[in-house]
Amino acid sequence: MSAPTPWNVAVIGAGPAGSVAASQLARAGLRVALLERTVGPRYKVCGGCLNERGLSVLRHCGLDVALRDELSAPLRQITFHRDARQVTINDQAGTIVNRATFDAALAVAAVQVGVELFAGVKATVEPLDAASAAREIATRTISLQRADGTADRLRAELVVVADGLGRPSLQRLSEFAAIAAPNSRLGLGIAPSETLTSAGYEPATLSMAIVDDGYLGVARLVDRRLCIGAAFDAAVARRGAFDRWIGEALTRCGLPAIDGLSTASIRGTRPLTQRPACVASHRIILIGDAAGYTEPITGEGMAWGLAAAAAVPSFALQACHEWHSELPAAWERTLRRDVHGGQFFNRILAAALRQPRYARRVFAVAAALPSFAAPIVRRLNRPQAVARIAA
Ligand SMILES: Cc1cc2nc3c(=O)[nH]c(=O)nc-3n(C[C@H](O)[C@H](O)[C@H](O)COP(=O)(O)OP(=O)(O)OC[C@H]3O[C@@H](n4cnc5c(N)ncnc54)[C@H](O)[C@@H]3O)c2cc1C
Repeated sequence: MSAPTPWNVAVIGAGPAGSVAASQLARAGLRVALLERTVGPRYKVCGGCLNERGLSVLRHCGLDVALRDELSAPLRQITFHRDARQVTINDQAGTIVNRATFDAALAVAAVQVGVELFAGVKATVEPLDAASAAREIATRTISLQRADGTADRLRAELVVVADGLGRPSLQRLSEFAAIAAPNSRLGLGIAPSETLTSAGYEPATLSMAIVDDGYLGVARLVDRRLCIGAAFDAAVARRGAFDRWIGEALTRCGLPAIDGLSTASIRGTRPLTQRPACVASHRIILIGDAAGYTEPITGEGMAWGLAAAAAVPSFALQACHEWHSELPAAWERTLRRDVHGGQFFNRILAAALRQPRYARRVFAVAAALPSFAAPIVRRLNRPQAVARIAA
């Protein structure tokens, strides 16, 4: 795998952010290696709802092939349930995707435009020695560990880190250490399965159950299997028995029961609200969850990753040619201004959801005045001005 000449760009992680960034970089004429730890379609903890903003980025990048009819279902309605109250938001224009097939389709699209995909390799960016850290360097080195125990290395002029929450590929670089929000909620998801069944849950609808110690979303994929994602307090994690917590949350909110939870494959996450100490340094830039994630899960995670990916090529063309000390601040500005702008709003929403008494009152107002909630959901979903970030 060691190339005689360095790659222009190594992208770590073939989730939505990594694969879209890789495609766009290859289209911009750069030689791109996409490094992915897993092999073939893999489940990722996610509610699977791609909002209008994410859709607008995919269309702009010509990657809506990943939303083919057999891979995605329309999302038209969101219903929020708390105790016996319900708030319904209609006229949504999102999509429900199965993260295994969606992510795989984006990785295939990257390969089709010339990206070289290395699947089944765990990438770790090597630290710089003191002398290299004090000057401008020409490349970064990444070590690669394969499942069969063999190892390799590659060099790249720019490393785009898109390896998700916690940035596992940067574990040796202290400058990117995680800053987790105190009391951050954790996430869980259930891999879609034939054995999870329910008589309820209409297609094209995301049903959200909100309880004092967390919330969960249930939607139907195009093949009618259920897609379930949740966020909850650390106390729930300490108690375990997630299947029981999900079942009780659904009952409490008056939502239909789901059979098969006790034998379902439930996967957890790290604390959801966290960010790295910096988002760029010495020929490394971060995108997607690796660049910071802010709960609550209101369906923007993928959109943030896709928007950041669309912004990568114009930055990379300059950074590959010549890295200089102002570039980290420039990348941080791009993320803050054009990608993560709405995260402030998420933080307020997350804080409100964690105050049961306050949340109950807000919900009561929203239930009585549906027009109160609709603009909030619209704001979270608004399409991305892609032309500006990709400029
Ligand atoms: C419970 C829950 C529900 C959610 N629901 C929604 C939703 O409905 N809508 C939405 O838009 N967002 C949702 N999100 C957020 C969304 O899942 C993420 O924001 C999105 O997946 C981020 O994409 P990404 O490409 O940055 O990272 P990821 O999708 O996490 O991809 C990272 C990739 O990097 C690979 N990788 C990791 N380490 C290495 C390594 N060392 N070497 C090589 N490869 C590596 C992984 O295998 C993976 O393929 C939800 C999140 C949670 C936890």
